[in-house]
Amino acid sequence: MKEQFASDNGAGICPAALRWLIEANGSGHEPGYGDDRWTQRASDMIRALFQTDCDVYFVFNGTAANSLALASLCQSYHSVICTPVAHVETDECGGPEFFSNGSKLLVTEADSAAGRLGKLTPDAIEQLVTKRSDIHYPKPKVVSITQATELGTVYSVEDLRAIAAIAKRRHLRLHMDGARFANAVAYLGCHPSEITWRAGIDVLCFGGTKNGLPVGDAVVFFDRALSEDFAYRVKQAGQLASKMRFIAAPWVGLLENDVWLANARHANAMAQRLYAALADVPGVSVLHPAQANSVFATISPQAAAAMRTAGWRFYQFIGSGGCRFMCAWDTTPEAVDALAADLRAVAA
Ligand SMILES: *Cc1c(COP(=O)(O)O)cnc(C)c1O
Repeated sequence: MKEQFASDNGAGICPAALRWLIEANGSGHEPGYGDDRWTQRASDMIRALFQTDCDVYFVFNGTAANSLALASLCQSYHSVICTPVAHVETDECGGPEFFSNGSKLLVTEADSAAGRLGKLTPDAIEQLVTKRSDIHYPKPKVVSITQATELGTVYSVEDLRAIAAIAKRRHLRLHMDGARFANAVAYLGCHPSEITWRAGIDVLCFGGTKNGLPVGDAVVFFDRALSEDFAYRVKQAGQLASKMRFIAAPWVGLLENDVWLANARHANAMAQRLYAALADVPGVSVLHPAQANSVFATISPQAAAAMRTAGWRFYQFIGSGGCRFMCAWDTTPEAVDALAADLRAVAA
């Protein structure tokens, strides 16, 4: 099928991940449930990457990673502060509430400058925390931020430090949905630790799937006390892979030689290319700064229909609307140029 821009999960497995998957398969019999050397190795590599002794768990997908991580931070009477466009709020079918036995998600106002960029701010958090203090309100306990955001924007180190400061003052835990963590690191050019534990993040859901893995995201506990019994949670949720090595080994391929970062840099560069190509097209208005690997643009309904007729696939329900074009680790400049040319033609 031709290259598409609907999601970065449309791409296949990147060569480095595939090579290690095959390598793990060729290594013969191994213990199950994560007691194998590939899982040990991938976990050690994640600890080395973050330069800290964190606890690492592999699950099948991002929904499970987020839901189980949040459940481990909350009691059922607690609440989680997030944006209205957060994946945990809009795209996980109530998973976080289900796995936490009812912890409520409290969403901030969308209609602020930061809100329009898909970001939480200290003020928005403060507003929700201080709105009520009585027994009838689910007690705020966690702040969940998405890095890069659902709208393709990225929190700076300063943004995160400011959020962490208010979280600390209000005794809130900090969870990061890092489905596109790699794209955020690539954009910021910082060390991964600077936007996680050094900035005050307690738990990171480190996405690998959209970065080039076949399957499997990592839950990384920087505050190791919070991971107590997490393994049981993973097992009960049906997220403990018996052949764990086939989730873990491809991670070795991503982490070795910083392939994860190269993949993200490439995807971001392709989004930049698309953004630049659409900037001056009449009838196309680009919505958010393209900091990570997506471009959001509004076009007329007729133009959108013509794009679909031309065979392009893209989502229009994400964030505050517009068409979302997502670039992946394998997106080619030629495909970007072809997409831009068709958009230019239908918008005219
Ligand atoms: C893709 C994505 C996830 C994970 O989704 P799964 O389909 O469950 O793997 C989580 N958060 C964000 C922001 C995402 O884009």
